[in-house]
Amino acid sequence: MAPDPDNAAGNFIRDLIADDQQQNTFGGRVHTRFPPEPNGYLHVGHAKAISLNNELAQEFGGDCNLRFDDTNPDTEDMAFVEAAIEDLTWFGYPPSGDPLYASDYFDQLYTWAEGLVEAGLAYVDEQDGDTISAQRGGFGQPGVESPHRDRPVAENLDLLRRMRAGDFADNAMVLRAKIDMQHENMQLRDPIMYRIRHGHHYRTGDEWSIYPTYDWAHGQSDAIEGITHSLCTLEFDSHRPLYDWFLEHLPLPSDQPRQTEFARLELTHTITSKRKLAQLVADGVVDGWDDPRLPTLRALRRRGYPPSALREFTEFIGVARTNSRHEIELLESFVRTELNRTALRRLAVLRPLRLVITNWPTDEAGNPVVEYVDLVNNPEDSDAGTRQVPFSGELYIEHDDFKLDPPPKYYRLTPGREVRLRGAYFVTATDAVTDDAGNVIEVRATYDPDTRGGSSPDGRKVKSTMHWVSAAEAVDATVALYERLFSAEVPGADTGDPFDDLDPNSRELLAAKVEPALAEVPAGDVVQFERLGYFAADRTADGAPLFHRTVGLRDEWANIQKRQNR
Ligand code: ATP
Ligand code: MG
Repeated sequence: MAPDPDNAAGNFIRDLIADDQQQNTFGGRVHTRFPPEPNGYLHVGHAKAISLNNELAQEFGGDCNLRFDDTNPDTEDMAFVEAAIEDLTWFGYPPSGDPLYASDYFDQLYTWAEGLVEAGLAYVDEQDGDTISAQRGGFGQPGVESPHRDRPVAENLDLLRRMRAGDFADNAMVLRAKIDMQHENMQLRDPIMYRIRHGHHYRTGDEWSIYPTYDWAHGQSDAIEGITHSLCTLEFDSHRPLYDWFLEHLPLPSDQPRQTEFARLELTHTITSKRKLAQLVADGVVDGWDDPRLPTLRALRRRGYPPSALREFTEFIGVARTNSRHEIELLESFVRTELNRTALRRLAVLRPLRLVITNWPTDEAGNPVVEYVDLVNNPEDSDAGTRQVPFSGELYIEHDDFKLDPPPKYYRLTPGREVRLRGAYFVTATDAVTDDAGNVIEVRATYDPDTRGGSSPDGRKVKSTMHWVSAAEAVDATVALYERLFSAEVPGADTGDPFDDLDPNSRELLAAKVEPALAEVPAGDVVQFERLGYFAADRTADGAPLFHRTVGLRDEWANIQKRQNR
């Protein structure tokens, strides 16, 4: 069952923009932006910011810019820019034109910085970083003014120009805004605007020796682009007065943009810190940035998450002003609902057990006859049609579907019991072959030729229907089952280190037998393995079929809700 759209949470930013438009603030314009730093891959948390900014722009007849917030030469790379564009396109929000870059505004920012220096509103400080941060004080503690704070304008200008020209070593000095060392908001205690860095920037190369801080770059980039509503996550709340202070003191090309903060998207069993995700990859805990256990967009894509389900999820959870964590089962239930509608049904046996039908006919050469049974491709979609699946006297069934000594209420196959093989025949187990250790390695059964298609003409009922594949025609495939990468709901809640909650068995690889049609599924397509779940097609490094479990069939979110309502 899809979560009921009537239960969707509100979006206070939508209300705020509607108000603005009604009052003709910004001349009725709505222009948002999504500003990733190209130092890592986009993840499910970004998905929230992406859809929020894009959907609001669309809804109110405006635009959403893609701007790379690339002000740090040490960590950024063009490969991340290209990956972000690819991921955004997959997610359904391709950039409408060429992407924008904060690094294209370096000249304008620098000109504005000289303007602030000339106005006596910025100064060069030669103290080291530790001293500057110690002097900032704390809440209720006074700040200490730098001895360089009242340096004459001409001297500041000269030093700034030489900083820019590359005359000084990394961190030798910084440019600070001259605001108020006693301000109750620490962000306004003479914040740093430029640092000296001689690193090579992936776009501007060696042209710059100074790089703007986030605070000095962000609002100004918004203003240059004519952004109206600058939406960011809650941790920037205390930066808002600084955002406004800079803009109020600059000759802006447009109306002053307005920053509004919203709660980050956090999911249970999931981390979204780019730094920690990078560590998982570097440590080899996962196979790479697109390992299906990660919350990066490329991993979710590989795992078979439909982008539409992710979009519906972000819309459903709405936008809040306080941080909270959503159950990952809720996201999965959107995925399941969508896949139930669209995924083709197929037969696959994950832990194969041989089943031999002893009364099955053989041909003249003594081989079991092969019959083709017609199976429905998707009961939820009448246009999906049917397919022919080979059936014969030697099959594979799921290991779990047979027991020599069944526990109570076990309704699947056991000696003397009749069950239905999906769409094919009724079979009754007669006995089993075991190995020296007593493990069942083969089941023997008889079939009733009058039950072709899977129903009995005499109205006989069976208690279970099982999936199967014909042994001779089955295709070998690797199937990856996934558990949560982090077993704890809040990774790190107990020890402070999320890596303590890593599940060492989060992936299980199985040698499965699958029906022939599964050999040809294009990579990226998701199918339902009947009775087992949804699986995304992929290829191993040698080009052999590989399937990742996207989600199981059971709606775990419904259970969580029942528990919570109890
Ligand atoms: P990190 O701190 O892990 O590097 P970040 O937030 O700095 O992540 P950016 O690339 O700068 O990463 O983020 C781009 C945009 O996405 C920002 O506007 C940021 O607020 C938003 N964003 C990042 N993570 C989340 C999240 N978990 N939920 C909602 N928005 C997010
Ligand atoms: Mg950031």
